[in-house]
Amino acid sequence: MVCFDLTDEQKQLKELAYNFSKNEIRPKSRYYDETAEYPWEVLKKAWEVGLMNPHIPEEYGGAGLGVFDSCLIAEEIAWGCTGIGTAMEANTLAQTPVIVAGNDEQKRKYLQPMTEELMMAAYCVTEPGAGSDVAGIKTKAVKYGDEYVINGSKMWITNAAVASWYFVLAYTDPDKKHKGISAFIVPKDTPGIQVGKKEMNMGQRCSDTRGITFTDVKVSSKNLLGKEGDGFKIAMSAFDHTRPIVSSAAVGLARAAMEHAIKYSQERTTFGKLIARHQAVNFMIADMAKDIEAARLLVWKAAYLIDKGIRNTKEASMAKAFAADTAMRVATDAVQIFGGYGYSKEYPVEKLMRDAKIFQIYEGTSQIQRLIIAKEIFERS
Ligand SMILES: Cc1cc2nc3c(=O)[nH]c(=O)nc-3n(C[C@H](O)[C@H](O)[C@H](O)COP(=O)(O)OP(=O)(O)OC[C@H]3O[C@@H](n4cnc5c(N)ncnc54)[C@H](O)[C@@H]3O)c2cc1C
Repeated sequence: MVCFDLTDEQKQLKELAYNFSKNEIRPKSRYYDETAEYPWEVLKKAWEVGLMNPHIPEEYGGAGLGVFDSCLIAEEIAWGCTGIGTAMEANTLAQTPVIVAGNDEQKRKYLQPMTEELMMAAYCVTEPGAGSDVAGIKTKAVKYGDEYVINGSKMWITNAAVASWYFVLAYTDPDKKHKGISAFIVPKDTPGIQVGKKEMNMGQRCSDTRGITFTDVKVSSKNLLGKEGDGFKIAMSAFDHTRPIVSSAAVGLARAAMEHAIKYSQERTTFGKLIARHQAVNFMIADMAKDIEAARLLVWKAAYLIDKGIRNTKEASMAKAFAADTAMRVATDAVQIFGGYGYSKEYPVEKLMRDAKIFQIYEGTSQIQRLIIAKEIFERS
């Protein structure tokens, strides 16, 4: 028997996240969009009420929540502002490889402190010349005795300037292609790390995105995650956990855009009737509602599977592609329903349209999700 009911704990978690989003995030989302300031104040409050890092295991001081519960939080936070949500979610993206592949010492050293005070982390995979094609990275880590020396450049790294440590992918054996990539935890204060200027992005503007250069950066071999050559697998398997969460954020944004569109369509009159009464408009809203519902169901299924320990790579990519495309379409249609006012910064939907676009790009583009889905269909079933 399939059950779509949330438990009482999940309902409380969702309500906590919704109230936080409504009271602490929504009222400030325009400010952070306009100033592109990092939302430290909001993050501090989110950390205090337990909405950050929800999946850090209990033995390391965390709440030990699953992906499904993290999705519930992500939808509500994104309903308030996805710029702030992405700053929070980037922690999850960096922490997940440590949760899935780290040893006890690494978890105690890098995850536990994040439950004791507000700290950020960053996931450093993309490079100026390689995003979708992860095996195309050029960063190298060469072993000398008990240390690795890392050289290379990363690009588009969320939380780059504010992170206390980085998850970094680098080649230890380039001849082995993706099987020669290894994963490291690199503390931010290690000599040789240079963080670039903040990128001024189209949307999610308060999220901190920068390049990072590693020049002769020495890290202990204790900071290698798993074994040499495990890096690609670790980075990709982390996506099975994080893609449902980022997809849930896309659902939250779409829900916000739809709510604004419904409200406006019941206030604006043309040709003697509310625009909600024009079939072309209410069909747009019907499509929004159906796609948001479908996206949420895909998200919930992908999250449910991984929480049960069942491989969800195909479902996570389905959720990511569908939810990201839905967010973009719903936000664009919301602008359409607002007409000229939708194009103005005085109204909330133009921000949502700018914010939505990145869901089709980061954590694997919508094209890459389709490649993964097809690969899973043709090579695994
Ligand atoms: C705001 C922001 C935050 C980000 N945060 C992070 C982060 O924290 N950490 C991190 O490591 N990265 C991050 N990224 C990087 C992001 O994951 C990459 O931008 C993304 O994976 C795409 O890579 P690319 O930009 O190099 O585009 P490319 O890989 O060059 O792709 C360009 C276009 O070609 C398409 N394409 C490429 N290959 C194929 C193919 N085989 N078949 C069909 N189409 C294809 C793509 O879908 C895309 O449309 C972030 C990016 C942005 C903009």
